Amino acid sequence: MAEKFDSVVVGAGPAGSAAAYTMAKAGLNVLVLEKGEKPGAKNMFGGVIFRHHTEKLAPEFWKTAPIERHVVEYQYWFLSKDSHLLLSHRNQKFNGRYNAFTVHRAKFDPWFAKLAEDAGAVIINRTTADDVLKENGKVIGVKTERGDVLADVVIAADGVNSMLAQQAGLRDGLPQDAVVLAVKEVIGVPKQKIEDRFNLGPDEGVAALLVGWGPGMHAGFMYTNRDTISLGIAVNIRDLDKSRQRPHVLFEQFKNHPSIAPLVKDGELKEYSAHLIPEGGYNYVSNTYTDGMLVSGDAAMLVNAVNWEGTNLAMTSGIMAGETVIEAKKQNDFSSRTLARYRQQLEESFVLKDLKKYRDIPKFFSANPEFFTTYPETMNELFYMWHVVDDEDKADRIKRMKTTLFKRRSRVSLIRDFYHLWRLFS
Ligand SMILES: Cc1cc2nc3c(=O)[nH]c(=O)nc-3n(C[C@H](O)[C@H](O)[C@H](O)COP(=O)(O)OP(=O)(O)OC[C@H]3O[C@@H](n4cnc5c(N)ncnc54)[C@H](O)[C@@H]3O)c2cc1C
Repeated sequence: MAEKFDSVVVGAGPAGSAAAYTMAKAGLNVLVLEKGEKPGAKNMFGGVIFRHHTEKLAPEFWKTAPIERHVVEYQYWFLSKDSHLLLSHRNQKFNGRYNAFTVHRAKFDPWFAKLAEDAGAVIINRTTADDVLKENGKVIGVKTERGDVLADVVIAADGVNSMLAQQAGLRDGLPQDAVVLAVKEVIGVPKQKIEDRFNLGPDEGVAALLVGWGPGMHAGFMYTNRDTISLGIAVNIRDLDKSRQRPHVLFEQFKNHPSIAPLVKDGELKEYSAHLIPEGGYNYVSNTYTDGMLVSGDAAMLVNAVNWEGTNLAMTSGIMAGETVIEAKKQNDFSSRTLARYRQQLEESFVLKDLKKYRDIPKFFSANPEFFTTYPETMNELFYMWHVVDDEDKADRIKRMKTTLFKRRSRVSLIRDFYHLWRLFS
């Protein structure tokens, strides 16, 4: 491995493969290092990949890619201990023009990485980049257990923990308030049962977000695959720490919730996994370039937690990192002066525009856990009261509902909460 490459990409996730494909297609000499035994072997997510951004690299990819179902319905569940309130949007337009697809990363990532390989990139699996190599302060390659690898530009696409970005001094470790721990089960349920339970046609899928259980800032997620259901929870590390609850115990409570249990009834556990999500937003985005190195995807903390988008930010930042290296190669200048163009591209695109727009949202929800606890519970209570039929007249009923609401949250707090929420999104 003494050879020098135009670029070494570390990590064959969505960011790394997108960067490698972009550069290899332009004729650059690209090496991808992946620590897993194959791309995707160590990766997990919810989840869905998005048509728009994936198609930038692979037009009509759903015809050949290992996708599970296309999403036709988005569900938002508000849970109390023993009930739920469901807001759901199903639209036939999602059957006409696909928007998002559920996938298993263990299948999708190898397929996506092969695009880069077919374009000429060399992928070496089971190889960890242990450190950056520097010369006169400039990154000139990476160290691996199999030897040093030299490159004009290293692209760190090594995910949320990114040791490389930290070793290059572009990022600190993971601040507790900016990281969420997700645990997930993939549960085998026969295809027809999934379609019956979720009222789906063949190939149609559901993506669901669930709030209202457990400690502080947390959410659950549920995605229908072909013959499995991905079910998981994501909990803020600081809240988890404070609550002294164990993630797998929380997950079991969630899975056994009376509204969820019937959906996965008689299911067979296929896989259990856990992963971190960098949900801190714009305020925690890392430095993204230095002499001889760029950082993309989760490694740069590019996740939009509000819209549950990560793979599209990873792919887009990977493409932009690749394009920046192509330009640097033309100029034969791999200094931070040329590589700074990458950050500019990110700032001008939806990637950093969205994160900037939402920059105060993570802090807001962190300071107002009521949105994940009091509000879902109260909404369920009010809907229950509304539906119970007995001798109470409706004037008294509405009065009692108002008392219940204002006992849980004062008028002033209610107005303040929703005013702030409105301001954050407008
Ligand atoms: C529970 C959960 C649900 C999610 N749901 C969604 C969703 O529905 N939709 C969505 O768009 N996003 C979702 N995300 C976010 C999304 O998964 C990430 O944003 C995305 O995977 C980031 O891609 P990446 O390529 O930057 O990093 P990763 O996908 O983490 O890939 C990093 C790669 O680098 C490799 N690697 C790491 N270190 C080294 C090293 N030193 N040397 C060599 N290789 C290394 C890893 O093995 C891995 O293959 C979810 C995340 C989680 C955890």
